[in-house]
Amino acid sequence: MSHPNEKGHGHFDAVVVGAGFAGLYMLYRLRRLGLTARVFEAGDGVGGTWYWNRYPGARCDVESMQYSYSFSEELQQEWQWTERYPKQAEILRYINHVADRFGLRPDIQLNARVNSARYDQSDNHWTTTSERGDRVTSRFLIFASGCLSAARVPDMQGLADFKGKWYHTGSWPHEAVDFTGQRVGIIGTGSSGIQSIPQIAKQAAQVVVFQRTPNFSIPAWNRPLPQQEQQAWKSKYAERRKEAKTTRSGILYDYSQFASADVSELERQQEYERRWAKGGANYTHAFNDIYSNKKANDDAAEFVRNKIRNTVKDPEVAKLLAPTDHAIGTKRICVDTDYYETYNQQHVSLVDLKASPIEAIAADGIRTTAGLHEFDSIVFATGYDAVTGALDRIDIRGKGGQALKEKWTAGPRTYLGLMTVGFPNLFLITGPGSPSVLTNVIMAIEQHVEWIADCLQHMQATNLAVAEPTQQAEDDWVAHVNEVASKTLFTGTQSWYMGANIPGKPRVFLPYIGGLGTYTNICNGVVADGYRGFNFEARLSTSDHQPNRLPIHQPLQTA
Ligand code: NAP
Repeated sequence: MSHPNEKGHGHFDAVVVGAGFAGLYMLYRLRRLGLTARVFEAGDGVGGTWYWNRYPGARCDVESMQYSYSFSEELQQEWQWTERYPKQAEILRYINHVADRFGLRPDIQLNARVNSARYDQSDNHWTTTSERGDRVTSRFLIFASGCLSAARVPDMQGLADFKGKWYHTGSWPHEAVDFTGQRVGIIGTGSSGIQSIPQIAKQAAQVVVFQRTPNFSIPAWNRPLPQQEQQAWKSKYAERRKEAKTTRSGILYDYSQFASADVSELERQQEYERRWAKGGANYTHAFNDIYSNKKANDDAAEFVRNKIRNTVKDPEVAKLLAPTDHAIGTKRICVDTDYYETYNQQHVSLVDLKASPIEAIAADGIRTTAGLHEFDSIVFATGYDAVTGALDRIDIRGKGGQALKEKWTAGPRTYLGLMTVGFPNLFLITGPGSPSVLTNVIMAIEQHVEWIADCLQHMQATNLAVAEPTQQAEDDWVAHVNEVASKTLFTGTQSWYMGANIPGKPRVFLPYIGGLGTYTNICNGVVADGYRGFNFEARLSTSDHQPNRLPIHQPLQTA
């Protein structure tokens, strides 16, 4: 194995792309299998999302006690969180702690952005290269490159001419940015915008928010997390984790067993009020048909719109902030601290881009069809090329030189979100067609990493060299992913789940919405059926030059 500071030119059992939550745990499991591995990471530190997203107010909206690894009881017992929702710096400290605690750093190459990966069918090896000149071969290639890691600055004419400073929330500078006394324009009102706007408004002299589409946001009611409360949770950590993994989202929410129409109007309003007072994304689980029944959804949405109207003093601004274009929850619900209240401040204003779209970035600010807004700084909270973006930015070529991007021109195609036909031994952690972004992603990551590790162990134990899904299994899975999504209200919304935020991206529902618990059962069933839907190729020995294909395909059965 080469030294981590040298340019890699070796051969490894596995190459892992990305050193966030997924990459670190994958490395840990590869080592336990006795496999050699090299992790390539673009940043100069580990942490992935939490390494890059250093914008003011960056915080996870899954609660601290749940947004952490569950694979090590010692780790989850020893780590102390400080607040109900963890802030970026604390999560980054946690990930660094994990890297040190399990001695992972020697196998991680930092500052090495992977730019290509090519499969050679003659020897069943992947060759992976990085922008800084690494070139390594491996039997397995595992993408842990994240679903929300390809930050996107929209194509806006004139940005290069802007005289002030501009930032994207997803690649924020390491040093603190001081907006004191500045005029700041913020484009985007998704989770990142909604978190950063109140914080930037605390410093800036003037804040103008450019909103194209409003989002629903529920108060976080963040607070310190007392030692006693943590201890109470930790005393049942193992069983709580086990239960969380059986749920739809991998989060122990208060999931209602009742449909919205099962209760009276008064009870319904009381339930929404109760959930609003508790805070967080738990709100959309008030009734079990909010995601599938338009009437139930309308009621849940109207309650939030009323809260916005009651909070924001200017009725015109309140009207603009109250979403009416999509069903609540079908765009990722936001969780905030003082978001709506911020618009009551004199120095904060809202521009409706539907009424006056941005024409260009000018040297002095942002020009809309209504005129020029002058700024010292511009913040792009404009999101990501989600789920497939990080993969698309790498030239990945499988059998016969086929580019993954080309294969996925009409939308990503995978079997279980884990593998894709034509790209043998290439595994995706939280890939398209898996629950990924619809879950507490650490639970989804653990499930995928453990499935992949078990598959590699199976291959080791049975002397198999190559794994690849069958075409039939992939086709059936893609059909199933689409069918399940079509039964929900999600597919009627133009969201990043659908690729709708990227011009030209196919409109396909990217994650699997059947729920983490159901999905885990499906994956376990596939294994129990002898890796149903996968073909394996036996390892070549000197006396056996013919690859021995072991078809293990049966029609896909789903739960
Ligand atoms: P996002 O949800 O995609 O929001 C991007 C915002 O920018 C939208 O309001 C979008 O408007 C706007 N926008 C994009 N291009 C634009 C353009 N050309 N002109 C004007 N406006 C434009 O991105 P995000 O806020 O970074 O969040 C992405 C995801 O990351 C979240 O949904 C969540 O899953 C995750 N996240 C989580 C947390 C947390 O845990 N608290 C925090 C941040 C992010 P349109 O809606 O009209 O496209």
